[in-house]
Amino acid sequence: MPHHLVIFGRQGAGKGTQSARLVDALGVVHVSTGDMLRAAIASGTEFGLRAKSIMDAGRLVDDETMCAIVNDRLAEPDVVDAGVLLDGFPRTPAQADRLVVMLGDRAIDRAINLEVSIEQVTARMLERARDDDTPEAIAKRLELYETQTRPLLEWFDSKDLLVTVDGLGTEDEVFNRVCSALGNITEVGSPNHDE
Ligand code: AMP
Repeated sequence: MPHHLVIFGRQGAGKGTQSARLVDALGVVHVSTGDMLRAAIASGTEFGLRAKSIMDAGRLVDDETMCAIVNDRLAEPDVVDAGVLLDGFPRTPAQADRLVVMLGDRAIDRAINLEVSIEQVTARMLERARDDDTPEAIAKRLELYETQTRPLLEWFDSKDLLVTVDGLGTEDEVFNRVCSALGNITEVGSPNHDE
C-alpha cells in the first residue's frame, strides 16, 4: 500500500533534509510546494515572477493557486502508484480541507511535526542567508506559521495522526527519531516484512 505522509516544521527546521531521507527510505514521491514554486521562478514564467515577489516578502501564495498546483500533482501516476510525502502543503486551514478532498480514498497515514524552536530556526536561517531570507521575511514567515499552519497540527493530532519529533541534533539523530516515531511505516526491509 502506498503511504501518504505530510511533514510540518518551521522554516529552517530541516524539513528538506529529512524529507529527502524519508523519500529514499520509503519510495514515496516528494512533493514540495516550495520547490515547485522555485522551479516556476527559475523557468521565468509570469506566474513565477508573481510567486517570487510573494515569497521574497515571506507571504503565502493564495490558497486557490496552491490547491490547483497540488491537485494536479497528486493526480499524476507516480504519486498514485508510490504515494507521497507532502512538504510545505497544507499550510492553511483552507488547504488542509481541500487536501482531504483531493486525496479522496487515499488516507493520510501520518503527519510528522519536526519541532525546532523559533530562536533556533531564526539563527539557522540567518546563517544560511538565502537571498529571500531577510530578517523581515523570516519574521513574517514564522508569524504565518504560528497563525496559519500550527493550528493544522491540532487537527492532525485530534485524528491521532500527528507524531512530533525533536529536530535538534545531527541529521542522522533526527532521522532515527523520525523513523522510530513512524513505527511500522518505516520497517520496510525489516526481517518480518516479506513474510
Ligand atoms: P518552503 O520552501 O516550503 O518554505 O516555501 C517557500 C515559500 O513558498 C513560502 O514562504 C511561501 O511563500 C511559498 N509557499 C510554499 N508552499 C506554500 C503553500 N502551501 N501555500 C502558500 N505559499 C506557499
